[in-house]
Amino acid sequence: MELFKECQLCPRDCRVNRLEEEALGYSGFCRENHQLRVAYVGPHFGEEPPITGENGSGTVFFSGCSLKCPYCQNYQISRDGFGESIHVDELFERVAGMVETHHVHNVNLVTPDHFFPHVFELVLLLRRQGYNLPVVYNLSGYQSIQMLRMAEDFADIYLPDFKYTDSALSQRLSKCRDYPEVALKAIVEMVRQKGFLENLDASSHVAGKGVLVRHLILPGQVENSLNALTTLFLEFGSGLPLSLMSQYHPVLPQRDQALNRSLTKDEFDRVFSHAKDLGFERLFVQFLDKTRSVKQEHGPFLPDFRKEQPFS
Ligand code: SF4
Repeated sequence: MELFKECQLCPRDCRVNRLEEEALGYSGFCRENHQLRVAYVGPHFGEEPPITGENGSGTVFFSGCSLKCPYCQNYQISRDGFGESIHVDELFERVAGMVETHHVHNVNLVTPDHFFPHVFELVLLLRRQGYNLPVVYNLSGYQSIQMLRMAEDFADIYLPDFKYTDSALSQRLSKCRDYPEVALKAIVEMVRQKGFLENLDASSHVAGKGVLVRHLILPGQVENSLNALTTLFLEFGSGLPLSLMSQYHPVLPQRDQALNRSLTKDEFDRVFSHAKDLGFERLFVQFLDKTRSVKQEHGPFLPDFRKEQPFS
């Protein structure tokens, strides 16, 4: 709990005392005090195949976020703070129940960094009780090295985004000019700790350990995406497991006009071609036609966390 006293849990470095805040919404950039808050616990089938497997990934969606991108598809929880306070013991019971009932392949902590102390406790409880399935940290990429070093013993898989290489864009959209260098250093640290994503064992198709980097292609920002791929290639080489995401869907009116539409085929093709030209060997791709047919059938990839089952 000491970590909440002068909060430096993420690179925002707000140094506010989150223990003293009585009410939500008046603490640091993430607007969360020390009380653990969660919006959803349950199996999820929308991750990459080695994470989802057949039985799903056991997700825990935390309330609040230290990035708050205006286009976030989980805006109900990341920006609007939807969720309920929960004690870590109760969260453990819910996660254990999910594992027993659904036989999920991992415990997938979605945007947990502003609650790292609780998360470490949760992982300790799970391990002490014999739940040894991989623990996934599903992250924005905007993490501090210091906190990642603390997380090392409590993590098996890192799923970081690498969103921006254009610091003006990261400032405009996510209010962090330093995102490109902070995220790159954070991913270097994640790879140092866990290596590239690898399966549980030779006979398994689900991941047991390692790093898989995600990049969401934003409409109107192809250059940012091309540079992101080049940067990752130069830093890590073609062996880095990379996930190209084309599911962008406008959620709320955006100042950047291009963000009020979906991705075009030309935009997707340019980024995908660049990934192939660079020779990424383990590329996970949400193809645009597939994304569109899923959207037509089920609606956009927009969870509604007010529902018992937020994902269609
Ligand atoms: S976790 Fe929240 S309060 Fe702490 S540094 Fe990050 S944004 Fe600020």
